[in-house]
Amino acid sequence: MNLITVGTVAFDSIATPFESREKVIGGAATYISLAASFLNGSCGVVSVVGDDFPESVITDLKSRGVDWSGLEIKQGEKSFHWSGKYHLDMNSRDTLATDLNVLASFEPKVPASFQNADYVMLGNLVPAVQIGVLSQMAKRPKLVVLDTMNFWMDVAREDLDRVFTMVDVVTINDEEARQYTGERSLKNAAKQILALGPKALIIKKGEHGALLFGGDEVFFAPAMLLDEVKDPTGAGDSFAGGFIGYLAKTDDISFENMKRAIVHGSALASFTCEDFGPDALMQVTPEQLQIRLTAFEQMVRI
Ligand code: AMP
Repeated sequence: MNLITVGTVAFDSIATPFESREKVIGGAATYISLAASFLNGSCGVVSVVGDDFPESVITDLKSRGVDWSGLEIKQGEKSFHWSGKYHLDMNSRDTLATDLNVLASFEPKVPASFQNADYVMLGNLVPAVQIGVLSQMAKRPKLVVLDTMNFWMDVAREDLDRVFTMVDVVTINDEEARQYTGERSLKNAAKQILALGPKALIIKKGEHGALLFGGDEVFFAPAMLLDEVKDPTGAGDSFAGGFIGYLAKTDDISFENMKRAIVHGSALASFTCEDFGPDALMQVTPEQLQIRLTAFEQMVRI
């Protein structure tokens, strides 16, 4: 397995200004592994669920390249549950509940078949668990990408500081970059985060695209413009999965290739927004992706 991820596999309760849904399949690792497998052909997952998580979803994702060897199923326990409410712009949201359930006592075990992976995506999860996964790798992976969110800045700041020094690329959204560094300017926030050790930083700006910082260089990629955003949950994770999936497939971690990876990540994230949960992402075909990549190119060409 050349690419693995750790992150939540979850149930989400989602309220948009137009529709509310309970028990939607979600979780960072779900979206990451789906998007990454789409480009790379496969992606290993290290995670935990309770015995309430549907077997059919596990089978479905497996048929799309997801390797569940690192998934622990805890009998008699409940899966991680997140609940969020979107504002009218569908770009910002409030977290209403984060029920850790199985995650509260999770000790990740990286299977032997995952331990030599060159590409590791540390999806949004308890920072101590992200560190636990890295420490079980047989060798230093070629590229480690970290995603995190404000929740962990509030409850596990010390561990989060540590994991920032252990990775090559950080993805974070604009508000979280400001919160983490205390800087209003994203340029200064980027400088501060890169000083911790990562070679590159991606600041996600939702419907306004993403900024890639590395050394003295900055690259900006807009997001795809959609007719309708039904539910943006998982867009950031699909983006991250597409990003690392593209890098793993091409096995090129240059800054130039990261630009191409961001465009692939953005295109896959746009599909995720078109329906609740991972449904839309599951239906994407290579032809549909190509149409979006071409549209994207036309949008940015001067
Ligand atoms: P995104 O919209 O890309 O930020 O990802 C949303 C997904 O992350 C949802 O499916 C949630 O289940 C999951 N999630 C929300 N909060 C957390 C958290 N604190 N830790 C890990 N995963 C989370």
